[in-house]
Amino acid sequence: MHEFDTELVRLLPDTARKGADGQLWVGGRPLAELAEEFGTPLYVYDVATIRATCAALRRGLARYPGEVSLIYAAKAYASVAFFQWLAREGLGIDCVSDGELFMAQCAGVPAERLVFHGNNKLESELEFALRIGVGRFVIDNLDELELLAASATRQGKAVSVWLRLNPGVEPHDTHAYRRTGQLDSKFGLPIETGDAERAVHSCRSLPGLRILGYHIHIGSQLFDLAPYREAIERTFTFAAQMRDRYGIVPLEFSPGGGLGVPYTPNDPVLDLAEAVAMLAEWVQAAARAWKLPLPRLFLEPGRSLVARAGLALYRVGAVKRIPGVRTYVAVDGGMADNIRPALYGAQYVALPARFTERPVERVTVVGKYCESGDVLIREAWLPTPQRGDLVAVLVAGAYCLAMASNYNLARRPAVVAVEDGRVMVWQRRETLDDLIAREIGVSGKEIGIEFPPCP
Ligand SMILES: *Cc1c(COP(=O)(O)O)cnc(C)c1O
Repeated sequence: MHEFDTELVRLLPDTARKGADGQLWVGGRPLAELAEEFGTPLYVYDVATIRATCAALRRGLARYPGEVSLIYAAKAYASVAFFQWLAREGLGIDCVSDGELFMAQCAGVPAERLVFHGNNKLESELEFALRIGVGRFVIDNLDELELLAASATRQGKAVSVWLRLNPGVEPHDTHAYRRTGQLDSKFGLPIETGDAERAVHSCRSLPGLRILGYHIHIGSQLFDLAPYREAIERTFTFAAQMRDRYGIVPLEFSPGGGLGVPYTPNDPVLDLAEAVAMLAEWVQAAARAWKLPLPRLFLEPGRSLVARAGLALYRVGAVKRIPGVRTYVAVDGGMADNIRPALYGAQYVALPARFTERPVERVTVVGKYCESGDVLIREAWLPTPQRGDLVAVLVAGAYCLAMASNYNLARRPAVVAVEDGRVMVWQRRETLDDLIAREIGVSGKEIGIEFPPCP
């Protein structure tokens, strides 16, 4: 086994190894073998990395003297098998739709451990969430407060709520699409406009609703922690005012998710345990400063929990050389399974799944879909690419499959998890039949089509 450059190690799953056979191994399996068995594109999750990341987050939380809870944000990557794994590890799940709530239920996650977020929860979703007994409803706006109270009354249920505050803090080190804490945002009850206070005030007169605590989530892919500190301080200042004015004392607090992870060697690296410990310390300090009881501290990581654990395996097809201009290396996936580069210029690093002596070339890795914007990596360094080569795109565990589509009627990829040489299929590849499952009055079998084999 050989070692990788330290720059690369930060982007690789913990168990990644260069085998003596020249292959890239993860979780005790050569990637080429997985590609052979399950086809490509293939998403591979290294369970050891997820486990180690959970442990790092927990180490940070352990520095908090009060109670703590780890809640995974489902939207980063959702599957029943993964949710089952999370439930066994004792995590709860953040959901933002009835679909996510349903999947969490299917995975057997105790409803008590579910947190229901979203800026426009539908009435039907609120009804569903109430019926299954979701642990915490996160109120995003005044309108929703009325809607939830009405549903709760209809169902005769008492509901625990958090108020999602908009603290008026703008993190500048992330893409505008990933900022949520500034006043001009669709998310949260602004403290500044008085909406947050109005929510506290109305809750008191709504019998079914009990304010358990406050929540903030100021953005995603954040490396600078200063905006968290500012947002925590504003939250507790507000909390103290609400105690003084209405006698409402928060028993719980969540600073959301948003911790950044490096996608390329140029990105900064956040020590997750240290970052969480800082947040914990600021919460403690703010509670102490305002003489509020130490709330139970929640953390809602999405990206930071799964991004580096996952990689995408693609097979190289057409290689188009335009002399003096660029070499396009087309792979068998692209924007249908990973829209992030096209959506907001996300950058990735690719590695060959087999290390060869071929000279390294600067190429552009593109997908197979009908958009010129279907570029996965504008500048990748790969050994002279040839049809059939396997390419691994690193740090693909978060917000790739979660945003995957059937554009061009692509079949969404299979997902496998690997651990100690064992392979678990978390999700099978979509089939042609899946693609027409919603069509009325037709099935592949009826029209006598021979399906191309799908692994
Ligand atoms: C998206 C989201 C998260 C997770 O954010 P990451 O950046 O993926 O860690 C946590 N909480 C809420 C409310 C969210 O919307």
